[in-house]
Amino acid sequence: MIKSVVKMIPFSPPHIDQRIIDEVIDTLKSGWITTGPKTKRFEKEISVYCGNKSTLCLNSATAGLEIMLRWFGVGPGDEVILPAYTYSATANVVMHCGAKPIFVDVKSDFNINPEEVKKAITVNTKVIMPVDFAGYPCDYDELNALVNDVQVKSVFSPKNHEQKQLGRILILSDAAHSFGAWYKGKRAGTLTDVSVFSFHAVKNLTTSEGGAIALNLPEPFDNVEVYKYLCIKTLHGQNKDALAKTIPGNWRYDIVEAGYKMNMTDITASIGLVGLARYDEETLPKRKAIFDAYTDTLSKESWAVIPEYETADKTSSYHVYALRVEDATETQRDAIIAKIFEKQVSVNVHFIPVPQMSYYVAQGYDINNYPQTIAQYENEISLPVWIDLTQEQINKVTESVILSVHEVLG
Ligand SMILES: *Cc1c(COP(=O)(O)O)cnc(C)c1O
Repeated sequence: MIKSVVKMIPFSPPHIDQRIIDEVIDTLKSGWITTGPKTKRFEKEISVYCGNKSTLCLNSATAGLEIMLRWFGVGPGDEVILPAYTYSATANVVMHCGAKPIFVDVKSDFNINPEEVKKAITVNTKVIMPVDFAGYPCDYDELNALVNDVQVKSVFSPKNHEQKQLGRILILSDAAHSFGAWYKGKRAGTLTDVSVFSFHAVKNLTTSEGGAIALNLPEPFDNVEVYKYLCIKTLHGQNKDALAKTIPGNWRYDIVEAGYKMNMTDITASIGLVGLARYDEETLPKRKAIFDAYTDTLSKESWAVIPEYETADKTSSYHVYALRVEDATETQRDAIIAKIFEKQVSVNVHFIPVPQMSYYVAQGYDINNYPQTIAQYENEISLPVWIDLTQEQINKVTESVILSVHEVLG
C-alpha cells in the first residue's frame, strides 16, 4: 500500500464509527425510516439533557429558526435584531418572512452586544436573535432583562395571539453552535424563550443534516401544546403524522393550514442518538482538550489573541477555536491562511460578516457600521477541532500556524 507522505489535516470531518453504522442499519431494517420512534426518542433525550420544556427535531436549524419567526407572526413591517457577525442563515430566515434584519455590532467575544441591541429596539421590533458564536453563550441575563424592561415592553405592539400572550419581544437564540454549553449553571436550550440547535455535518452533535427547536417559553404558554402545533405546521399543516395514520382505521386526516415540510427522519435521528449518548463523556472533554492544547501553545505567542471559551459564568461547547492574529490586516490574514494550507493544515474563517455579502450590500447594508465586527473578522482564523485529532496533528496545527504567521508578518 502506498501511503502519502504528507496528508492534509481536515477541518472538521464527521466522526462515524461502528456504533453509528449499527444504529442506522437498525433503523433501515426496522420498517420505519421517516419521522417515527427514534426521532421522538431523540427529542425526549434532548429535553432531558438540556432541561428545556419541549423539543422538536427538524431537518435543519434554518428551518427551526424560520418556523419560530412564522409561529410568532413575524412579517412585513417587522424588525428582527441580530448580530452582524453570524452565518447568513440567521439573516436569510428573516428575509424569507418578509421582515427586516437589523444588524448590530458584537463584543470582543464575538457575541451580540446587549448595549447595541438596546439602541436598535423600535416599535417594530418583534424578535431578537442572539447567536452563541463558536458555542460560547451570549449575555442572556442582560438580554432577558432587556425584553422584560417596563419601558421596552411599553413600546411593543402585539399583532397576533402569540405576541399578545408573550406581551414583549421574543428572544430566539441561534444556538447552532452551543449544544451542551453552560451559562450560570444552566444548559444552552434553557437560557431564554426558544433556542435552535443545528445538527449539520460539521456541528458538535450531528445527524448529517438536522436541527432542533428547544422550547422554553414562559407562562402562560403550554410548551407541549406549542410543540404539537409546530409538528402540524412543519408537516404540511396535516393534523396527523404518518405514524399516527398507521393505527388501524386511522387513515383520515385534515389540512388545517398551508404548512411546511421540515421533519427529521429516523435515519438521521439514529446518528444523533448515538452522538448524544456519548456527548458528555467523550465529545465535550475531547474538544475541550484540543482547545486547551491550542491555548497552551499559542498563548506564548505575542501576536495571538486567544478566544474566550471559559469564564466563571460561561462554558463553551468548544465548537470553533476562533484564533485572532493581533494587528493583522485582512490581506495579511488571508496570506497566513494560504501559508497554513501549504503546510497541509485546513483552517477556516468564521464568518464573513453578513452585511458584507453582496446580497445584503444590495439591500443597502454597510459593513462599516459595525467596527467591532470588522475588527474581529479581519484577523480571525478558525483552527481544526474534531475528536479524532491526534496529539501529533494538534502539534502540526500549532507549528504550522506559528510558522505561517512569522512568514507573513516577519
Ligand atoms: C450552521 C449554522 C446555522 C444553520 O444550521 P443548519 O442546520 O445548517 O440549517 C445557523 N446559524 C449558524 C450560526 C450556523 O453556524
